[in-house]
Amino acid sequence: MNKWLDKDEQFVWHPFTQMFNAPQPLEIIKAEGSVLYDAQGKSYLDCNSSWWVNVHGHGNKHLREAINRQFEKVDHVIFAGATHHRAIELAERLVGLLPQSLEKVFFSDDGSAAVEVAMKMAFQYWFNRNITKKRIVALDGAYHGDTFGAMAVGQRGYFNEPFEHFFFDVDYLPFPMEENQAEIIKRADELFKTNEIAALIVEPLVQGSAGMRMYEAAFLDELMRLARKFDVIVIFDEVMTAWGRTGKYFAMDHCVEKPDIVCLSKGLTGGVLPLGLTVASREVYNAFLSPDKTKALLHGHSFTGNPLACAAACASLDLFELPETWERIESISKQHSLFREHIEGETLVKEIRQLGTILAIEINTGEGNTYFSEIRDVAYTFFLENGLLLRPLGNVLFLNPPYSTSDAQLQMMYDVLSEFICSLKKE
Ligand SMILES: *Cc1c(COP(=O)(O)O)cnc(C)c1O
Repeated sequence: MNKWLDKDEQFVWHPFTQMFNAPQPLEIIKAEGSVLYDAQGKSYLDCNSSWWVNVHGHGNKHLREAINRQFEKVDHVIFAGATHHRAIELAERLVGLLPQSLEKVFFSDDGSAAVEVAMKMAFQYWFNRNITKKRIVALDGAYHGDTFGAMAVGQRGYFNEPFEHFFFDVDYLPFPMEENQAEIIKRADELFKTNEIAALIVEPLVQGSAGMRMYEAAFLDELMRLARKFDVIVIFDEVMTAWGRTGKYFAMDHCVEKPDIVCLSKGLTGGVLPLGLTVASREVYNAFLSPDKTKALLHGHSFTGNPLACAAACASLDLFELPETWERIESISKQHSLFREHIEGETLVKEIRQLGTILAIEINTGEGNTYFSEIRDVAYTFFLENGLLLRPLGNVLFLNPPYSTSDAQLQMMYDVLSEFICSLKKE
């Protein structure tokens, strides 16, 4: 018996896992570039960047050195009443990368917290100005995190049913498709017109957890223009879509209109340390300035602005300044689209979607996309056996690999995916 896995079973409670009958987890003892190694010496390609975070690959030397250097200077310090150089550097560089209107950076620890902060900013913005706007609009199928506020604006269902009675009211717009856009705009117009809507929150262009569902920038622009017209704060949850994932630095770079608040996390530190950021416009920020202390944003976490995480994030920005990084992003995007053409028309493929380095293949199961659909487990096991760590979302198989992934490694991902789709046909 393996003592580590025995102890794991004895002491550890894993996320998103039914511990009653969960298969043994992978025991990962080494991570290098786009490859993970288990204790038996088997290797796996990290097809989903270790839960969508690891953008530059594992063990990146530049990130490691930046974290080590920072540890020798300041490992951690309170971020209220004190500051440090890496947080300042990160905020300045990020504001330089974001659209001009986004100017003030608030630090937290993960994507869910970044979303909570964004919503608190939006609601308190109106509160501080003595204007009654207490409702929020989100999209069907949204995922914004697992804390209460983030759950409340997300898709309701079996994931959060036990907590639903605590959730605040949210108005949902249908997920935008070609045929329903006019209807959505009409519905949004009716909602915004009530003058009760504080904010609109969306995952721009790609809904991650819903199965990498994609929609058009032009539609989002139209929705944002409508929000502008009725003074509705627009929040972009770019926790997943930032850092080159969509082919551009941020998903908002595909849009003409820009949000008032953006949430960032996941690949922010290159995916090696937890950090969340909520960046707001000066207009939002200004509503908190007052001689009255209670008008401040009274929110903060113990690890707010952690210097090691900030150092990693600055180092990750360095890597994004290298042309090589963008060449890899472009190359992965291009190869994804070639593979897409290759398997388009396969009878078992219901739809194949791609934006930048994200490729999603929806398998026809006849029952729609549900997280627990059986094909998920069959596929997951098949991929592990064939050297891929690829966690499907229900019947959606997807790749969002680290940018360190070589052409040969990408080809292996495509080959195993093709093989899996072929194996389904034989059944
Ligand atoms: C992952 C994710 C979150 C939550 O981030 P955590 O760091 O897991 O809390 C929020 N929004 C989106 C779009 C995400 O993909």
